[in-house]
Amino acid sequence: MRSSARYREDLLNMKPNLYIGGEKVGRGDARIQPGINVMSVTFDLAQDTDWQSLLTAESYFTGNRVNRFTRPPQTSYDLMQKQKMIRLLTQRVGGCIQRCMGHDALVALSIATREMDDKYGTEYSRRFNAYLKDFQERDLTAACAQTDMKGDRSKRPAEQADPDSYVHIVDIKKDGIVVRGAKISITMAAYADEIIVVPTRALRAEDEDYAVAFAIPADWDNVRLITRPVWFRQRERGAAPLSQYGVSDSVVVFDNAFIPKERVFMCQEWDFGRRLALLFADSHRHSYTGCKPAVSDILCGVTALVAEANNIERMAHVRQKLSEFVGGAELSYAAGIASAIYGEKTSSGTFFPNAVYANVGRRLMGETIYHEYNLLTEIAGGLSVTLPFESDFYAEETRRDLQKYIVRNPKISPEDSHLVWRLVENVGSSAMTHWYAIAGVHGGGSPIMETITLNAEYDYEAKKNIARYLGGLVTKLDQSRDLRLEPDLGDTRDTHSTD
Ligand SMILES: Cc1cc2nc3c(=O)[nH]c(=O)nc-3n(C[C@H](O)[C@H](O)[C@H](O)COP(=O)(O)OP(=O)(O)OC[C@H]3O[C@@H](n4cnc5c(N)ncnc54)[C@H](O)[C@@H]3O)c2cc1C
Repeated sequence: MRSSARYREDLLNMKPNLYIGGEKVGRGDARIQPGINVMSVTFDLAQDTDWQSLLTAESYFTGNRVNRFTRPPQTSYDLMQKQKMIRLLTQRVGGCIQRCMGHDALVALSIATREMDDKYGTEYSRRFNAYLKDFQERDLTAACAQTDMKGDRSKRPAEQADPDSYVHIVDIKKDGIVVRGAKISITMAAYADEIIVVPTRALRAEDEDYAVAFAIPADWDNVRLITRPVWFRQRERGAAPLSQYGVSDSVVVFDNAFIPKERVFMCQEWDFGRRLALLFADSHRHSYTGCKPAVSDILCGVTALVAEANNIERMAHVRQKLSEFVGGAELSYAAGIASAIYGEKTSSGTFFPNAVYANVGRRLMGETIYHEYNLLTEIAGGLSVTLPFESDFYAEETRRDLQKYIVRNPKISPEDSHLVWRLVENVGSSAMTHWYAIAGVHGGGSPIMETITLNAEYDYEAKKNIARYLGGLVTKLDQSRDLRLEPDLGDTRDTHSTD
């Protein structure tokens, strides 16, 4: 497996194709380092004896241990381990671990390529497995580029005035395809080794050129990344792990980019557009049942800490509010576990989470994220946005005043009181705060998308049957429809795991 140092070196060897604030830059640009620092933790912990068994899994190609982010789950236990790994890593870096995007794209393609081959006799799964084996051996990272610019939201891809509103095939050659269009909001593309492209929506026959999936190195010819970095506020003194982390999102432009055949995993199979889009989205929503509880854990911890700094920790309203974090985080996490044990083995061998549980777990957190920030704000008070600058806490003329007045709980030193408020500012009122709030709503699909999936998947007829029976409209209640799923509690343990 790669070390984080090697990952960083490999980034520096990539061709500069990033554009930030009007400049063309390479992967050494300081503004994307906070995101690179996040990614590095996924390499470092995979080599840490305490966490190795959680962060690695056995490759089904070679039998070697590989980073868990590079291997599609094969059992419900694998899915639970992925969820736990994401919660752990998200807690470590103070938020989005980012590497799950590529993992979920690999999961989706492992399944869809097999199913397309079964229907059309194509050779996508052979191509994909060759790609995946190399991906695992080189311990690569990938961004998933699913979200298109989309143009007029009331129109389908083929109806758009500008055909480039969705990424599409413009030419099919013997040795590959040429694609044009742009994907937006693509997290970590600026410091990923690879970009994996999948469709964003259901497609019709007239949209066939929009049915396209492929993978390319992130510095590929005719690919431009217009990147917006954001990070936690930097600290002037002392080390706070949080302040080294951040994220970058990119508009990824495909300007007649040539994609070699071996890296094309869908080409005009429009009837698989919905399936592939949802496979990514549902796998990603399962990943969210690991990271969103961790975002809640962070908010809960900061809220409890600032309650202590305010010396109100034992007050009833504070206990009530803290328990709301527990309710959300643990329900969502439990939904992820249920999604894993009620998941299904697909024809590709990949074990896929149950869509209903993954979607309710994800939607719950998407709907409560602003409320959770509000809980922190209420308990913290207004100082989180009015706190004087860090330098004023150390400057000769202001230091004494601030050290005296910053203390609210006499049991906490002026230094620690300052650090608590600095943390509250970083978590509750920085540029990252708004990134997390909006990521909480829209990342992995807005709550409307989970609602659409739930309405497609959920068996309302079975519920009506219960009502019919209880109301005396029918005399027999057939519950095999409603409670037909068997939990997967078989031999689910990864034989190499020690935990
Ligand atoms: C921080 C962040 C990180 C992200 N990272 C990634 C990433 O790495 N890769 C990636 O591919 N994407 C990423 N996304 C994009 C994310 O998946 C989308 O934002 C999300 O799916 C919503 O799509 P949209 O932004 O195009 O909004 P839209 O879908 O256009 O939504 C706008 C409005 O239209 C409504 N709407 C949309 N569709 C329907 C419908 N069918 N019926 C009724 N109303 C509808 C919505 O409710 C909403 O009110 C990220 C987003 C954020 C905020």
